[in-house]
Amino acid sequence: MADRLKMQDPREQYPKPPFPQQPQPEPGLARRMEPRPDHGETSYSGCDRLTGRKALVTGGDSGIGRAAAIAYSREGADVAISYLPSEESDAKEVIALIEAEGRKAVALPGDVTDEAWCEELVARAVNELGGLDILVVNAGHQQYRNDVSGVSNADFDLTMKTNLYALHWIVRAATPHLKPGAAVITTASVQAYEPSAILLDYATTKAGIVAYTKALAKQLIEKGVRANVVAPGPFWTALQPSGGQPQEKVAKFGEQSEFGRPGQPVEIAPVYVLLASQEASYITGEVYGVTGGAGIA
Ligand code: NAD
Ligand code: MG
Repeated sequence: MADRLKMQDPREQYPKPPFPQQPQPEPGLARRMEPRPDHGETSYSGCDRLTGRKALVTGGDSGIGRAAAIAYSREGADVAISYLPSEESDAKEVIALIEAEGRKAVALPGDVTDEAWCEELVARAVNELGGLDILVVNAGHQQYRNDVSGVSNADFDLTMKTNLYALHWIVRAATPHLKPGAAVITTASVQAYEPSAILLDYATTKAGIVAYTKALAKQLIEKGVRANVVAPGPFWTALQPSGGQPQEKVAKFGEQSEFGRPGQPVEIAPVYVLLASQEASYITGEVYGVTGGAGIA
């Protein structure tokens, strides 16, 4: 049994703050994080829950998306990952891990703030995987600003484009390919429910993702397709040191959760697996919080 699954105090299971300050330009790289996040590389073992499925995960190079991509491949799925070209080094590691499972891996570098690219990335995933059964729309942009006066139109636009427009463009392109039993999963945040003062635009998009996905779920169930939202709390990913939080908050990241530490990406992967699998046959339009005890009521 993997050490991760042995019975133990979850508060002590993974690194706690203080962490070193570690500024990175956006988008950050998982490989430059200290300590390195656990995305399940050696700790996630699957058991055929997604055999033969074809999955597309946006932002699958690092963080939560990477943990979902690794878990999907271990559960027997072929996986396409989308990411920004500057993240090629992280993406290469994920592609190698998927291929090591004997599964097909498809690399889709490009910028999801471009509508044409969103359509192309879905078309390429469908063509190269031979269909699409699981769509995880997870790529996200988070840049803190201390005051509303500092949120420029360019900031607001980039956050909306990455977190909401791309969601719509990708979902619209993908839905014609989804067959009964397929699943859509979006990544919102605890920020949709408890917005931080410094994440005005980001929190707004995360609330939008919840509403969009719930409305989508009502449409898609007419085709036998489910759609659900995952709402993470603090997870140890490159999003935070690359502008998502001030460095002093990165050093204390996760301290305020009930666990006294941030979540590691592998700790949220089982929720993405459940929602993608037929075990979730009566689950749609729901929001799954994995918030470190904060709740999403
Ligand atoms: P991450 O930086 O590892 O992943 C985000 C990914 O988004 C990047 O790897 C990048 O590939 C992709 N991306 C960003 N802009 C893009 C663009 N213009 N074009 C294409 N791809 C782009 O960080 P993460 O924390 O794993 O983030 C995944 C999701 O989880 C995001 O939606 C984020 O908002 C959400 N989330 C994270 C946390 C947290 O604490 N880490 C908490 C709540 C929600
Ligand atoms: Mg990344």
